[in-house]
Amino acid sequence: MLPLPFEFERPSTIADAVRSVEDSGDGMFYSGGTELLLAMKMRVIHTDRLIDIKGIPGLDRIALNDANDIEIGARCTHKKISSDPVVREHVPALSSLCADVANIRVRSVGTIGGNLCFGEPHADPPTLLAALNARLVLIGRDGTRVVHADDFIRSELETIREPDELLTLVVFPCPNGPVTYRRFKHGERPSVNVAMAWSMDAGKGTIKDARVRVGALGSRPQPLKVVEDALRGLRVREVRPAIEAVLTTALDGLEVNEDRHGGADYKRHLAGVLLLRNAEEAIAAGGGT
Ligand SMILES: Cc1cc2nc3c(=O)[nH]c(=O)nc-3n(C[C@H](O)[C@H](O)[C@H](O)COP(=O)(O)OP(=O)(O)OC[C@H]3O[C@@H](n4cnc5c(N)ncnc54)[C@H](O)[C@@H]3O)c2cc1C
Repeated sequence: MLPLPFEFERPSTIADAVRSVEDSGDGMFYSGGTELLLAMKMRVIHTDRLIDIKGIPGLDRIALNDANDIEIGARCTHKKISSDPVVREHVPALSSLCADVANIRVRSVGTIGGNLCFGEPHADPPTLLAALNARLVLIGRDGTRVVHADDFIRSELETIREPDELLTLVVFPCPNGPVTYRRFKHGERPSVNVAMAWSMDAGKGTIKDARVRVGALGSRPQPLKVVEDALRGLRVREVRPAIEAVLTTALDGLEVNEDRHGGADYKRHLAGVLLLRNAEEAIAAGGGT
């Protein structure tokens, strides 16, 4: 099927892109088009105007800034992120995540911004970015706001972004401890994924803060607070038994959607396996005793 007719614009500034959406009523930003065009062809989504953001300079930049934060422009493709030297050096887990997204065609044009803004639950980056405590920078007619990745996806295919708000940047602190990511997939998209990031208290040789997120199970990435609390203050060698002690309670607290990726018990089991594999990798990478 072909999409219904629409207008096409290619603004060269963020302000013009925002204004175009506002003027058109139901205009939509168009980035790589890998989700949007499929949905328009299936006529699940219709818009009178597509606002192509490819011509806006500066949205595909990756850098380590003076505050030791890693900045990734929303127009960066999965392919670019996977091969970027800053990402490879400081967050290899994100580099390999992006190298495994979808297929080469989607990775070459699909962007991190489009992935986040579509709000598809069976996605990889939202889980890891939430574990990295990422912030997302949105620019709309009322100015700029910064939201936490944890708060951005509201539910399935729904985010807190207003239609006129352009996601411009993803920012997160450069990790100072192990960052791991594991996923299991039956098809092209993840059925379950788990991300873990912890920082060490160098003086004490213990874990200062841990962030663990489970994705694709429910409508949005979920924190495993029980595990995070159990890990705080531990030595690295104590991690695995501590996780095993709280695993059942932690998994029981998760929202799980039963779908073609599997039933609730199966998915919870997978999440537990992936969590322990993350822990093993983090233990090996984490140093300390
Ligand atoms: C076959 C296939 C397999 C896939 N497999 C995986 C997978 O394994 N893991 C995974 O995580 N993902 C997967 N995906 C999803 C893929 O990551 C996304 O399609 C891609 O990242 C979307 O980016 P895009 O630039 O093409 O977005 P578009 O299709 O251009 O846009 C998607 C949505 O986001 C909005 N949008 C885009 N950019 C912005 C912005 N900067 N600000 C505000 N709104 C914006 C658009 O208006 C639209 O609503 C798969 C997709 C396909 C088609």
